Amino acid sequence: MGIIKNNLDEIKITLPEGVTLIAVSKTKPNEAVLEAYECGIRDFGENKVQDLVLKYETLPKDIRWHFIGALQTNKVRKLIGKTFLIQSLDRASLADEINKIASKKNLMVDALIEVNIGEEENKSGIFLKDLAEFIEYLKDLEHINIKGLMAIIPQGDDAQNKKYFKRMKEVFMELKSKEYDRFHMEILSMGMSMDYLSAIEEGSNMVRIGTGIFGNRNIR
Ligand SMILES: *Cc1c(COP(=O)(O)O)cnc(C)c1O
Repeated sequence: MGIIKNNLDEIKITLPEGVTLIAVSKTKPNEAVLEAYECGIRDFGENKVQDLVLKYETLPKDIRWHFIGALQTNKVRKLIGKTFLIQSLDRASLADEINKIASKKNLMVDALIEVNIGEEENKSGIFLKDLAEFIEYLKDLEHINIKGLMAIIPQGDDAQNKKYFKRMKEVFMELKSKEYDRFHMEILSMGMSMDYLSAIEEGSNMVRIGTGIFGNRNIR
């Protein structure tokens, strides 16, 4: 006991005002989530639908659940209504499915567009070249609120990370000129345990930290 609190204390003092901390609790048991919860954390990130749903059902109801993983369209139904923010919206077919289910349930779903800024084929996220068309497509989907962008960056050194973070910030600012009632650039989610300070320097206002809080991931 106490390690999670110590880690959180150390991270919290490094976060400027206006930066939201998402505690990425994937693979971690409810007890670990609760320890962070007792420290005042309310935003948690999960990357598997099944895990998020189970935690949603068994943990305090004032937790804001962020879905941050690759999302299969056939799992959307289980997820809708349980997330505070879906951070991994990256394709039209997924947006369609989210919109369809949200419409049936008569609710609005808040989401970030996940951008694969390094254009890595093996990772999820939309490429920059496809972004404008995707945003145009989203205009017709009346049950999705776009709140900003989530960045996935290639593994690299600090200089390379900063280059990608900088580019993300530029895109984020450019898209502000395209805002409409269901499309706003409020959240720029970028930075993880190893690179969040650089991400913040380059304009991130939401960081997603897993191992830095909870230690090494458990094996599923
Ligand atoms: C696992 C994960 C994180 C957290 O990574 P750490 O290196 O453990 O901080 C952040 N974002 C996404 C999308 C993840 O899948």
